Formats: sequence, C-alpha cells, structure tokens
Amino acid sequence: MSLTVLVNAGPWLPVPPRGYGGIETVVATLVPELRRLGVRVVLATVGGSELEADGYVRTMATGRFPAVTAPYNQSSGIVHAHMHAVVTAIRDDPSIDLVHDHLEVVGPAVLGAMGAAAPPSLQTLHWDLRKHADFYSTFDGRGRVAFAAVSESQLELAPERLRAQTIGVVPLAVPRPPSVEVEMGDHAVLLARITAVKGQDIAARVCRRAGVPLVLAGPVAGVQCPEELERRLADGDDELARHPDVRFYLDQVAPLVDGVGVRWVGEVAGEAKERLLQSARALLAPLRWPEPGATGVVEALTRGVPVVGTPMGALPSLVRPGSTGYLAEDEDDFVACLHRLDQIDPDSCRAAVGSWTPEAMAERYLGLYRRQLEAAA
Ligand code: UDP
Repeated sequence: MSLTVLVNAGPWLPVPPRGYGGIETVVATLVPELRRLGVRVVLATVGGSELEADGYVRTMATGRFPAVTAPYNQSSGIVHAHMHAVVTAIRDDPSIDLVHDHLEVVGPAVLGAMGAAAPPSLQTLHWDLRKHADFYSTFDGRGRVAFAAVSESQLELAPERLRAQTIGVVPLAVPRPPSVEVEMGDHAVLLARITAVKGQDIAARVCRRAGVPLVLAGPVAGVQCPEELERRLADGDDELARHPDVRFYLDQVAPLVDGVGVRWVGEVAGEAKERLLQSARALLAPLRWPEPGATGVVEALTRGVPVVGTPMGALPSLVRPGSTGYLAEDEDDFVACLHRLDQIDPDSCRAAVGSWTPEAMAERYLGLYRRQLEAAA
C-alpha cells in the first residue's frame, strides 16, 4: 500500500523558492523523487508554491520570510497560525501516515504534544543545534517524533537528548542544474543571506587583496535588492535600520562594496542565478559558524564550481582541498587559495557530488520513514 506523507515546509517561502531558500530548495528536490518512489505527498506550504504534489495545505497567502527575524512578539503568530492549519489538516485527513516536518522547534513541539492524535513524524534538523538548548535538551517525542540531521558535524553539537532521538543523517541534495549557455567569468560569488555568520565582509576583503572580482548575491533581512534597502532606510524605516543583518551590511560590508571589484546584486533567481553561478571561478563560504548543511556549496559543486570556505560545520565533509576547492584557515590563507583556483578541475567538483543525488536522498528518507513508522507502531 502506498504511503501518504505530509511534508511541512513551513510558512516562510514558497516551494520551490523564487531565489533564496535553502530548506525550500531541499523540499523541492525531495518531493518529486518521493513521488517517483510511489509516495503520496501532501505539501503544507504557502501560496505561490508551484511544486507538484498530490495534495496541498496552503496556510498563508504568501511566504512570510521578511518577518523571520522579527522580534518574537511579532513573528510567533506566523508559525503558530501555520502549525494550527497543519494540525487541522492532519485531523481532517486520516490517510496521512507520517509527517515529514521542516519547521524549526514548533513542528516537533506541536506534533509531539499531539501524541497518538498525530501520525508519527520525522523532522529534518536544518539548523544550528546549539540554538534552542532549552527545547532540544528537554524535548521527548516519546518515539512519535524522530529527527534526521543533515551532517555528522551538525549532530556532534546537538544536546544529548536530541542525539538520542535522531535516527539518521541524510546529506542534502539539490536539483540537477538547468543547462544555460555561459562563458566563464573571472568573478567569485557568495550566494547567501547577508549576515555576519556567512562572512560577506571576509569575502570582500580577501577578494580585494587577491584581485578577484566578487559578486555578493542574497537578501539582507528579507530585503531583496540594494535599491529597496536604500529607499526604505531613506523613508525612515527604523526597525529595518536596527536589524542586526542590516547593521552588519551597512557597517562591515557596504564600505567594501565599490560596484566594480565588489558588488552586491541583491537576491538572484532563475536564469540570472544560473548564469552568475555557472560562470563563477569559485563560490566562497567564509563562514563564522558551523554551517549545518550548506545547500549553496552543494549547488556550486554540482555545477563544477570550486568552493573556497572555512573548515567549519559541514564544509570539511563537502570540500576536498586541492580537488574540489580549498579550506582556508584565515584571510591570508583565503587569498593564497584564490590564487590557486586554476588548479581545480570542474569535473572533480561534479564527480564529488556523485553520491548525494536527489534519488539517493529520497531513498534514504523513505528508509527512515519506514523505520519511524515501525518504531512508532
Ligand atoms: N540563494 C538564491 N539566491 C540568492 C541567495 C541565495 O537562490 O540570491 C539560495 C542558495 O543558492 C541556496 C539557498 O538560497 O540554495 C541558501 O541556502 P543555505 O542553506 O546556504 O542558507 P541558509 O538557509 O543558512 O540561509
């Protein structure tokens, strides 16, 4: 009998995302492969999602990502309204065998509290597991809620109680790249939210020193482009001006952005993103945090683009120094690595992602669904 899984993608962005969106990209990669394996998928997401599914629970008219880092008293209603709609859908649809959840903290909290009134569930841990220690070190899903991590390095930082309830590690896979005609450029790219832990300031400094043009792509505090940021700040949007990511951009990054050697192009999507990434000499990941899964890194390697990053989080498991890129200890090292980009063969990068295919990711998850269903029964 075929399995019906409600995949909860959360209220932040549509699936697939138009541009930025690591979790939503993973969901958009997984769902078609699960369906190919015969799983019926009901997708809980927001309006604007265009991914094919067997059923939909649309909890909001549009994605609420701009509010994701708003103060708790402004953003908590969004996740709870979303989860309320998901619970109602679960209660109304007895055919749902399992919930595959992707909503930080609130997903397992609610599903766990429902006990036998909810189907067994599996949550993918997309996050830095040192956050929310109050929750992760006390939560007990009583076997009804289990977890899957996205890298071994991520799980090493998890509280003991969470580790005990984690039944597998499934590395991230990304969709196969569309083919676009591009000529190689001379630029490096950093494709991520603009925020201190992603190190846009480090990237700008090392690229200036190495004489490599740098393109920074990504939103800042949910703002999609430089013009919008400028307009809202000029209009006196004080809350935006106080946002830590906006402060980081204005204080640490903007002074290094000269529009030639270092550019911020805002959020990129679709063909523009493909052209930017596929023509890049390298993707930079100068992290200040143990990045759990690093979707952007996997996307670059899949396209034959080498990665130069900090040896933190999942990076050492994704980047083979000298073969698919480099791991740089400090800014001097980064500069030296940027001078050695010609030594990396794009085919080695593509080959390195060979085993992290969308099919393999879906098979691993299907195995975990079965395990969780058996354990919960
Ligand atoms: N991304 C994008 N356009 C941008 C910036 C980022 O499409 O302008 C995508 C990027 O390619 C990756 C995702 O957003 O798929 C970022 O996900 P990641 O997990 O690296 O970042 P996080 O979830 O930690 O913010």
